[in-house]
Amino acid sequence: MTPLLEVTDLVKHYLSRGLFRAGLPTRAVDGVSFEVGRGETLGLVGESGSGKSTIGRTILRLDEPTGGRAVFDGVNVFETDRETLRAMRRKMQIIFQDPFSSLNPRMAIGSAVAEGMEIHRLAPKAEIPERVAGLLREVGLDPSLATRYPHEFSGGQRQRVGIARALAVSPTFIVCDEPVSALDVSVQAQVINLLRDLQEHRGLSYLFIAHDLAVVRQISHRIAVLYLGRIVELGTTDQIIESPQHPYTQALLSAVPEPDPRRQRTRIVLRGDPPSPSAPPPGCAFAGRCFHSSKNARCTSERPEQRTVAGRQVACHHAG
Ligand code: ADP
Repeated sequence: MTPLLEVTDLVKHYLSRGLFRAGLPTRAVDGVSFEVGRGETLGLVGESGSGKSTIGRTILRLDEPTGGRAVFDGVNVFETDRETLRAMRRKMQIIFQDPFSSLNPRMAIGSAVAEGMEIHRLAPKAEIPERVAGLLREVGLDPSLATRYPHEFSGGQRQRVGIARALAVSPTFIVCDEPVSALDVSVQAQVINLLRDLQEHRGLSYLFIAHDLAVVRQISHRIAVLYLGRIVELGTTDQIIESPQHPYTQALLSAVPEPDPRRQRTRIVLRGDPPSPSAPPPGCAFAGRCFHSSKNARCTSERPEQRTVAGRQVACHHAG
């Protein structure tokens, strides 16, 4: 079966503007390829600034890509006309860390959930209240809350409303951009369980973005690890968690709490910061922070391409 979404060589460079422009573009995403299958969750993990949100936004065309291809359900998202794009926007939704930041605080949440249905004319007006009630129930909220306002909700409830808003237009694919990062751990688990249940019942596909591998592993079937705008490792969740091959993945994993004391990992603390995305180094972008014992001159001169190591894709000269 063809994947629902196929992204090939996605590039997004931001040009610096204004009085203090440095001249060099920020290479936020620098040649990224991946697929998301039907009913699958692909996790996208990496530290802040690695390009995760930019990937999410460009594949939805909320930001224009600099290059590459994204084919969603057989349609090339980057080359499609306005009308097709409008129809696709309904199928491809996004939920954010704080779903209310872009909302009118004076709009009752029932109206907020109904908005997408009204814009896309998905239901006769008379049916909308019943549909909204159904959506609120589906995300675990009491339908009587429809008349309440954003400030009356807890963080977890707000995220449930954000999910209901996305579901209102019956999407097949949702970009989840750090959806639980602002929530307490116990609430995080509830929202992740909800997303999982919805995936099962509705056959949804997710691109699940988070900086925290401990969160990403809970929901993802496969995981792509991003470093400075490139994927350094991509494999099944088991492969990434049980036998990470890229030293950056190993460092991320070493920070994930392990409940079983027999399996405690030694924490790898990375020194320094990643290089600037407007002046990436010629070789491996991770070389300056790498602790690999066989690190050598090739790492700082030749950019490692992805290759298959232990069944997954890794971009490291020394993996395997
Ligand atoms: P992440 O989601 O992993 O934190 P982002 O995709 O937000 O990373 O950012 C990747 C890089 O692109 C960062 O260096 C960020 O500063 C830069 N960037 C993101 N959005 C813009 C923008 N609108 N204009 C200029 N640079 C941007």
